[in-house]
Amino acid sequence: MNLETNTQLPKEVERTFAARSIKEARKSPGNARVGAVIAREDSLLATGYRGEAKGLHAEEVALQKARAADIDLAGTSLYTTLEPCANSRTSRVPCAELIAEAGITIVHIGEYDPNPQVNRLGWKYLRDHGVQLRDFPADLREQAREASRNFTRLFTNGTGMSAGAKFDFTTNGGRFTISVDEHPNAASWETRWSNCGASAIYLNGGVPGVVALARYAEKFDEIDDPDALDYGGHFSRIDVGCIGVVRNEYGHVLCKVIAIEPTADYGGNAQVSVTINWEIRLADGRTGR
Ligand SMILES: [Zn+2]
Repeated sequence: MNLETNTQLPKEVERTFAARSIKEARKSPGNARVGAVIAREDSLLATGYRGEAKGLHAEEVALQKARAADIDLAGTSLYTTLEPCANSRTSRVPCAELIAEAGITIVHIGEYDPNPQVNRLGWKYLRDHGVQLRDFPADLREQAREASRNFTRLFTNGTGMSAGAKFDFTTNGGRFTISVDEHPNAASWETRWSNCGASAIYLNGGVPGVVALARYAEKFDEIDDPDALDYGGHFSRIDVGCIGVVRNEYGHVLCKVIAIEPTADYGGNAQVSVTINWEIRLADGRTGR
């Protein structure tokens, strides 16, 4: 194994594998699209995409395939469209650890994790464990981002006067920002969600938002003036099927909790995803900006 050769691969070879990982990512079902490729110099050893094997991340799939084929991973390169995960809420070993333990020499990354709480933590873990790090070329970084765009957006924000979303409330501090539209100055509400078991969830209005429970209301049109509700605090427990309201300077966002579910992507049975529908009621005299 010659490290010198490995670090001086022709750019075209690296491009080919980076592009291949993006192609793998596009096979992922749903919105969390991530692909990974393991190569030694110019030979492809293994590929993986999220969802290819139940509950496994793309890198884990590729690592397991390589192991199953009895391939020694020391000195190989891994290309992944999304920075490997470095922390874990469950008993799973984070991908960055698996990669470093396998003796992989170089990791090529298409996109850093957009979640601010874990952004570049995978990069740091690998750097601290002696793994060399490369970024995909700019055009392929753009493609990697494109491949995962829905995933990123769904996890952090939603737009529309009346819309819905399903997101993982155990990442990003449970934060989900609801905005009138995509304009950077659009009226918006930062909602925060946290675990309260299988049939209810805590809704936190952040700061300066306050929260009210629209007790017994089942539909948005049953709520005449949301200001008539009791904004007693910064959080409220909302049962599935019920409506919580967050109020800030822009007005109100009414949030109905549709479902709280485990998400197979992350393994385990923890309740991690919440599906909500919302309706925005702008304060009198407010436009959407
Ligand atoms: Zn991972």
